[in-house]
Amino acid sequence: MNDQPRIAVIITAAGASRRMGGVKKEYRALDGRHDAAGKPLTVIGASFLAFAAVPGVDAIVITYPPAPAGTGGSGYGHGAPAHGEEALRAALPAIPDRASPALITVPGGETRRESVHRALEALAARDGPAPGAVLIHDGARPWVDRDLIERVTGAALRHGAAIPLSPLSETPKEHEGGFIKTHLKRDRIGAAQTPQAFIWPDILEAHRAAHRAAQSAAQQTADGENRYTDDAEVWGIYGGAAAIVPGSPRNRKITFPEDLAAPGAERDGEGGVPRVGTGRDIHPLVAGRRFLLGGVVIPFTRGEAGHSDGDALTHAVIDALLGAAAAGDIGELFPDRDARYRDADSMELLKTAWRAVRARGFTLGNLDCVVICEAPKILPWREHIRASLALALETDAARIFVKGKTNEGFGQTGQGRAVETLATALLFAKNS
Ligand code: MG
Repeated sequence: MNDQPRIAVIITAAGASRRMGGVKKEYRALDGRHDAAGKPLTVIGASFLAFAAVPGVDAIVITYPPAPAGTGGSGYGHGAPAHGEEALRAALPAIPDRASPALITVPGGETRRESVHRALEALAARDGPAPGAVLIHDGARPWVDRDLIERVTGAALRHGAAIPLSPLSETPKEHEGGFIKTHLKRDRIGAAQTPQAFIWPDILEAHRAAHRAAQSAAQQTADGENRYTDDAEVWGIYGGAAAIVPGSPRNRKITFPEDLAAPGAERDGEGGVPRVGTGRDIHPLVAGRRFLLGGVVIPFTRGEAGHSDGDALTHAVIDALLGAAAAGDIGELFPDRDARYRDADSMELLKTAWRAVRARGFTLGNLDCVVICEAPKILPWREHIRASLALALETDAARIFVKGKTNEGFGQTGQGRAVETLATALLFAKNS
């Protein structure tokens, strides 16, 4: 389970956001959430955090708009929109420590294809082992989640390329000259989402071929190259067929200012009767298992044994949330004698439990957690764990805290044979 392939991510944010009234949509504050440092979370920041929390992601390339023609490529004049590299860096949340994936910023090109090509060349120029897969994502889709990221990556590793496709709610028609030309069958048509995933170096080669074709087309005709709208289209011509995985209805693209509100999420911490809950868990640490805390894989010689994936922190969090809502406990909801929960992804169990708690009218005040183990150190991973839990609970990382303690050599935990976790959750009951 430790030999998962390295994943590189490209997030595109080099466009002009014309339908947002000229304000660059990727840099705008999103749905009132904050990052772990208390800074408002931006659209691009939420995308970045979603990928940074996924195990195996070791590099994230983000494109930003190229400097306008006539500025010598050096930047923006007074009064010009601040869309350059500095503005991009300011829009990203603080992920401070050495455990973070490498962040690479790249000026985009005139077209989306050119921007992605430049980002791929930046990955090719990087030292170190090559990625197994590259995910290419629209910076304006901040609600992408780990489940979709892992499904599309898995399908790409099996088939060479994969994209999320979502069903259409309205009936598509092909038209020409103001009249319907073709009645299309809705069940055979879908809308492409991102991230789109491709194996390396094949996606680099496909984009290099598209780049060469664009250069010769530009020499021959005034209007230049074919304008690709996504990477699956480039892949379709120079790579092969892309497999499909079901898209996520939450993974909407922000196009208009009113899209910035969270899809269906209630605002957290906004009054009601306070309710507190406690969770506690312990798992043996054994060789040959992943060490998982809050959905984050922490490199270590041992990991948690367990019927599920063994994520002891997530289990304590589930019990704290269920306990505060007086809605049962983890063993009742997800019995470990049930084969369905063998090797279960605990973050999916957490999302299921939190949906059930929310459905009873609760919102989250805050969540505080303790992880007790002799090794490894938790601090370098703290921001990742906070971000990962915040994504699962659809809340601010600022509402969540995690700290590590040792057991000073006492007992099983002190001898490094177990990890213990504690969680306290404060909820507010809306309906009481
Ligand atoms: Mg457990």
